[in-house]
Amino acid sequence: MLENIAEEISKIREKYFLKTQGIIEARRGKNGDNPMYREIEQERIHTNFIRTVPASIALIVIEGSGMLWALITKITFNYGSRFFFAFLAFFILSIFLIFLINRELKRSRHNDRRKRRMYLIYWTIYMFQAVAYSVMELFDRGTINNYLAFLAVFTLLPILEPVTKAFYYIIAAAIEITVLVIVHGKASYIIVAACITVFAQILSFIRFYYYISDKITTKRLEYSANGDALTGIINRRGFRSRFPYLESFCRSNGYTLCIMMVDIDDFKKYNDTYGHLKGDKCLIAVASGLRDGFSRPTDICARYGGEEFVVATAQKDVESFLNYVAKLISEISLREIDPAAARITVSAGVYAVDFEKDGDLTLAGYVEKADEQLYNAKKSGKNCLSCENRIYKNQGA
Ligand code: GH3
Ligand code: MG
Ligand code: MG
Repeated sequence: MLENIAEEISKIREKYFLKTQGIIEARRGKNGDNPMYREIEQERIHTNFIRTVPASIALIVIEGSGMLWALITKITFNYGSRFFFAFLAFFILSIFLIFLINRELKRSRHNDRRKRRMYLIYWTIYMFQAVAYSVMELFDRGTINNYLAFLAVFTLLPILEPVTKAFYYIIAAAIEITVLVIVHGKASYIIVAACITVFAQILSFIRFYYYISDKITTKRLEYSANGDALTGIINRRGFRSRFPYLESFCRSNGYTLCIMMVDIDDFKKYNDTYGHLKGDKCLIAVASGLRDGFSRPTDICARYGGEEFVVATAQKDVESFLNYVAKLISEISLREIDPAAARITVSAGVYAVDFEKDGDLTLAGYVEKADEQLYNAKKSGKNCLSCENRIYKNQGA
């Protein structure tokens, strides 16, 4: 009985506490070097950025319908035209915001900090509008319908950190309730406004929690499908799924996309001489050497198959990149992987993509070009790097 309870408690602890821990770390970007958490955070930022568009549409619908209603029913407001023009101003501002976001989206496609800043500015303007608008409604009619509508949109759309959201809620509710007191609004409205705000914060927290834990689950599955069990780096499938981002990053930021194929030299002989287990150790060592050498967030380093690896990277200066690679592969060759076995060497073929000339070439085409260079390196005596049929001999090898 007691054991069962202890087991239950540890299950609950596992489920909620550890998961929450992961969420907090993901949120703070603490796991900066954990690519899974980094990707989750990137996706959350992107989602929030995109969701400013439906939020603007919601603003237009809420404000536009109020405006239409005023026109159709010809209601004469206490604050008459001022109210109407406020409607109009917010309406125009919302449309303007949509255009602005659209333009920003193209520019900041790969800049998470910029996106984050943009949507925080957006939600600040949004809440400012919402509060101003519902304050006007309070002065005009003493009702809180718009406050509730704006609050619903703010609760359902952005997945902000709970503390950030609480900040917005507290300010909005404080202003709303203060004005309600000033205009001697109904006590029931004050209670409703306060309760709904608290409820919204709780709902936001739950949504944030489920959003992140759902992402963690999906990412784990994705990582296990895209990962290579032996070397721990991604496999060909993972490479294919990440590649389009790198390609568009290079295109939009003026980088040269470099594709590199790496193959271990005379690996068959190594396997036959020392056995597959030692061969596997070599694969792990080469994979980790490549991963350490290409550790920028944009770099992709994958096991392409058997004992072949592929690296895709964004470079400004191809010549210095080639020198860097020559040095890197010589370092890999110099590693002592197993004291009881001979050292291995690797050969590499690099293809630097020229987007103007290679217009209709796809990933398979790039890889084929890099493969031709790898073949050239093998033909030229192995343990070297080839690019545009020029051989870069490893220093120190
Ligand atoms: P080259 O220098 O021309 O590349 O010669 P090579 O002997 O390396 O030729 P090849 O690339 O055809 O050899 C591939 C070998 O890689 C065959 C196979 O024994 C070995 N291999 C492929 N996958 C694995 C693996 O997962 N573990 C081990 N230990 N060996 C593998
Ligand atoms: Mg080989
Ligand atoms: Mg091979």
